[in-house]
Formats: sequence, C-alpha cells, structure tokens
Amino acid sequence: MTVASPDFAPDYAVVDSGAQGRAVLVFPFIGQKLLIGPDAVLPCAQDLQDMGSPLRTFRFGTFGGRDCVMKVWPAGLTVPPQLTVGDYRSLWGQWPPGCLAALVRARQLAVWILDHRCCGACGQAMDLSRSEIACVCPACGHKAYPRISPVAIGLVCKGDEILLARSPHFAPGMYSALAGFVEAGESAEECLRREIREEAGIEVGNIRYFGSQSWPYPHSLMLGFLADYQGGELVAQEKEIEDIGWFCFDSLPILPHPSSLARRMIEAVRTAIAPRP
Ligand SMILES: [Zn+2]
Repeated sequence: MTVASPDFAPDYAVVDSGAQGRAVLVFPFIGQKLLIGPDAVLPCAQDLQDMGSPLRTFRFGTFGGRDCVMKVWPAGLTVPPQLTVGDYRSLWGQWPPGCLAALVRARQLAVWILDHRCCGACGQAMDLSRSEIACVCPACGHKAYPRISPVAIGLVCKGDEILLARSPHFAPGMYSALAGFVEAGESAEECLRREIREEAGIEVGNIRYFGSQSWPYPHSLMLGFLADYQGGELVAQEKEIEDIGWFCFDSLPILPHPSSLARRMIEAVRTAIAPRP
C-alpha cells in the first residue's frame, strides 16, 4: 500500500441525504467490496440508483478539491450488472496515488461500519456521531472508533542474506518478511523478537525502525523494522510457516507487491548492500 498522498486529505462528516455540496467522488461498498464501473472509474449516482438506501453515507476526506463520500451497503447485496468489484492490487497503477490513499482509508472504514451496526455493550442499533469519527450507542453511550491493529513486520539480515518465509495463504511461490500482531501489553520491538523466535526459532538484535503503512485487510497498521541475526538455527513454525530460508539478492523468490512495506524494506536492504560501481 502506498504511503499517504499529499493529494488526499482525510476528514469526516456525516452527509445528510439530499444535501448539495461540492463535486463528490462516491466510493460505494457492498460489505467490504468496492464497486467500480468500466475502465476502473468510480460509479456515478445513476449506477447506484437501484441499490436502495445504504446503511451509512459519510464524507471521509477530500481528493483534488472533491469531497470523498463513502456509501456502505450490507454484504450479500447483488452487485449491479454494470459494475464490478475492485481492490487495491487491481487498481494500483491505474488510479493516482491520492485516490489509492482514499481507498485505503475507505476500505478500513467500511469494515468498521459493518462491524458496529449494533452496540457491543448493550446490543442497541448504533448511530454515527456527528462530532467525531465514531459509532455511538443512543441507549448506553458506548462509542466504537475505527479499529487499528498494529502488526510488527521485520526483515532480518545476516551478512548479504535476508530471511524470507511463506505462509500457506500466500500466493504461489511468494515469500515475505515475518510479521505478527502486537499483543496486549507488548511493545512493537518485543512483538518482533517473539514472532521471529516463534516462527523461525532464531534470536535477533539491533532492531531499527524503518517505517509504517496502513494495511486495510481488514484494519492493520504495519510497523516495519530491520533487524540483525543474533543466533539460533532456523526452525519453521508448524502450520504458520510453510517454508523459510536465507536468500541472497541474486536468487530471490517471488516478492510481495511493489507498494507493500515488506517490499520497500527488501529494496532498501538490496540498495544498501549493493556493490558500488
Ligand atoms: Zn449500548
């Protein structure tokens, strides 16, 4: 996923039905699926007129001077025949970075809306707050903000080799850096050491923060680190890790998408250890 684009500015406002505003880009979702028209363009109002009223309609940012509004319908609704489902990977390279940054935010907010139709404390139907980005229970006042789940991802280096592994759910042949969700009470660095110990059986040190990336599948914030191998023998964790190994840059497997944080870390290490001409 790309980093935030200067062309997209996130914000939030409930949009009243029938309100006339500035030019609008509508991001329609059925469940977690974004609907797009032919040639990957966002649908117009006419394309959506037979879908009935959405669960929620709200502004979530501006792009190029246009309001970005999302409309969320429940999962299971039939996709209108003139529309298809688009996702980040298929739209990368077709949409400008600002529009992709809007999609990353919208996709995560669609999940939040769908997960909070009812109050988790008392079961009452939730409302959208008009003052902040939150679902609010009119009965008990409980608030639910968009959930963000931190994930530590680490690229481990040993000389001119990097540690890559594949999970059973990866695309065929693809390997990536090790990653795992931060647990309650844990720092990102502690999470990284634990995950690498559990998944690879080795110890790491010299952990350096690299950067972060929103990953809305469904609501992760990837925290990227580089680390050095310190000791131990590679032992792949059963079930979680299908294969693991040390790779030189002249014999790399299939790597993650070029816009992913994992790929950016791999390319940064490749550049750092490349022999100078
Ligand atoms: Zn409640």
